[in-house]
Amino acid sequence: MSGNESRIQAIYQITNRESMPAKKPKPLDKIWACDVFNLVKMEESLSKAAFKAIKNTAQTGAPLDAATADVVAAAMKDWALSKGVKFFSHIFYPMTNITAEKHDGFIVTNSDGNAITDFSGSLLIKGEPDGSSFPNGSLRMTNAARGYTAWDPTSPAYIMHTDNGSTLMIPSVFMSWTGEALDKKIPLLRSNAAMNTAAQKVLSLMGETEIATLNSSCGAEQEYFLVDSNFANSRPDLLQAGRTLFGAPAPKGQQFDDHYFGAIPARVQVFMQDYEDQLYKLGIPAKTHHNEVAPGQFEIAPYFEAANVAADHQQLMMTLMKATAKKHGFMCLLHEKPFAGINGSGKHVNWSVGNSTQGNLLDPGSTPHDNLNFLLFCGAVIRGVHKFGPLLRAVIASAANDHRLGANEAPPAILSVYLGDQLEKVFQDIKDGKIASSETGGEMDLGLSQILNFERDPGDRNRTSPFAFTGNRFEFRAVGSSQSVSGPLVAMNTMLADSLSWIADNLEIELGKGSSQADAVVTVLKVLMEEHGSVVFGGDGYSSEWHKMAVEERGLQNIPTTADALPALREASVKELFESTGVLSPVELESRFEVYAEQYVLSIELEAKLVIDMAKTLIYPAAIGYLSELSITGSSMAEMGVELDNSIAIKVASESNAMMVSVGKLSDAIAKDDFGSIEEHMQFCANDIRSLMDEVRVHADSLESEVADELWPLPKYQEMLFIK
Ligand code: ADP
Ligand code: MG
Repeated sequence: MSGNESRIQAIYQITNRESMPAKKPKPLDKIWACDVFNLVKMEESLSKAAFKAIKNTAQTGAPLDAATADVVAAAMKDWALSKGVKFFSHIFYPMTNITAEKHDGFIVTNSDGNAITDFSGSLLIKGEPDGSSFPNGSLRMTNAARGYTAWDPTSPAYIMHTDNGSTLMIPSVFMSWTGEALDKKIPLLRSNAAMNTAAQKVLSLMGETEIATLNSSCGAEQEYFLVDSNFANSRPDLLQAGRTLFGAPAPKGQQFDDHYFGAIPARVQVFMQDYEDQLYKLGIPAKTHHNEVAPGQFEIAPYFEAANVAADHQQLMMTLMKATAKKHGFMCLLHEKPFAGINGSGKHVNWSVGNSTQGNLLDPGSTPHDNLNFLLFCGAVIRGVHKFGPLLRAVIASAANDHRLGANEAPPAILSVYLGDQLEKVFQDIKDGKIASSETGGEMDLGLSQILNFERDPGDRNRTSPFAFTGNRFEFRAVGSSQSVSGPLVAMNTMLADSLSWIADNLEIELGKGSSQADAVVTVLKVLMEEHGSVVFGGDGYSSEWHKMAVEERGLQNIPTTADALPALREASVKELFESTGVLSPVELESRFEVYAEQYVLSIELEAKLVIDMAKTLIYPAAIGYLSELSITGSSMAEMGVELDNSIAIKVASESNAMMVSVGKLSDAIAKDDFGSIEEHMQFCANDIRSLMDEVRVHADSLESEVADELWPLPKYQEMLFIK
């Protein structure tokens, strides 16, 4: 068998693929949220009183009483049974980026031995998965391993249809018996509550009398790659690590930039339509989709929702995207950097806070008073990013995202804030004392509404900034494509809570001196900008001048790897932030550090093992096979008196030897286990292991361009990126 059999087979399969016909699009109003037990369905099936109670809980997060829980559970069960569902599952979000489910039947038997269905309020509120196999860091020591799940009524239950049947899914929190958060949902709910408390204080000092509960919102733009499964299945690295660990660059990469917003390939369109129909049924408002920069790369963005719901929907979108791609003969790659030298994938997290009485607080609004509120909230974000830049870097840290951050395609690993020229000038003027409310006779109209309407033009935006104001929200662009949005949202909400508290305290002092609101706002923001204004940067975030200036002149940190980033979670200031806001206790925070650190080490070690394995069992044999062909032909030619040029043979032999030397060094490195601390182990992975992996790759990739194509076992970059 020739070495490239699986590649030839793959290409044959793809080119002879029967095209999957596009389904006729269904009218949106027929399918929208049809599989979601939302407020509309609750209103239809519950008594007025029960509906009022659950609606209040869903909208404000107030606790649900046991009687209502029973009634809601019964209605939920009946609705699910009427749709052919036999199982229910609490779905929860452990500290990894995945979701976890435990399925249970509605079935119970009664004393006569007959099967009946049952689902009580207590089952809805408390499921008991055995938590022992979910990573919970040091919490494992302080508690029995078990944890329990309980429905988060702010996120509606829904039905998941798979080939295996249909299941009622109940979005849940996951906590230990002693109440510690073992998941990503509890901190998000708590951070939202902390933000609300602090925002209420600020708004009431600003004279607002009616202030509805504030909520954070999130709209996440998701980038991803699609590769035909026939190729992906012959790449152990894609299957196990989600990225290529080997692969010489394609002659045609993305240098022609002809993919971005180009026509979406027909097969991909069929996939997208199928996927989006499923999203609509689940009440997920998919809004835009388009090609991305790299060949084979695409993006989908839903319309924004309350952060908690958006976070659940994001997880569901990733799960469904992978499953649907598979049905269409694709492997969906959510990895941040699946192909070296080709644009990676991110997830821009658009974020804002608001309520029904004051609206979006990051929207400048149309009156001078709205403008003041806006400036305070915007200032609070500036202060937060400056004070907690390293925390923001830590919550987006992963082995995969490290490949992207700081490379010239994605936001730098230095956290700065982009405001746009005009808003930047407003804050600069406040800092320089050039704006005083007396100028406008007490009423300060900065004309922000007009200015910012103008700046809302997306073409005007600075794409090199990791944290940008985009007209009525901030966009955190450094988040990785495979990551849960919860971590970033928790960090943003919590830093905002901290800043708003500081603002409230200082406003109170100023107002106590008899200052007008406008004067007080300007005074407080002046101090804020003097301390934190250095984080505002409108220039080119990719440039080396910025990297130098940020660190040397502005005291910002450039944090290149996860090993350098995660220790921020152990900083006193970060502990204090989470403890004072009630978002995470020191034990809960520490457990997160431990889980993420362990994940980092494990994922680098997995890749290292794969590198060794693939180099030894796939690449070396291909190279040796080629050498043997060359030497047989060479000696028979020599017998005939013809000297063949032997430069290729020499190159292949020397690269093979060099590769195996590097493989040997890498094997020794991963055997090392005498680390004094997890920090030390992470540093070893970040520096030694990663560079040895690169070393193996350099030789392997150079072999790829020497060895006869028909002997090469791994699908090549140009095949995976361009053949669809
Ligand atoms: P771009 O690619 O220019 O950044 P998109 O239109 O692709 O913009 O995505 C913008 C995202 O921001 C969408 O998900 C949108 O719903 C979201 N968004 C808009 N307003 C808000 C807001 N107030 N809070 C959170 N997200 C928002
Ligand atoms: Mg964007």
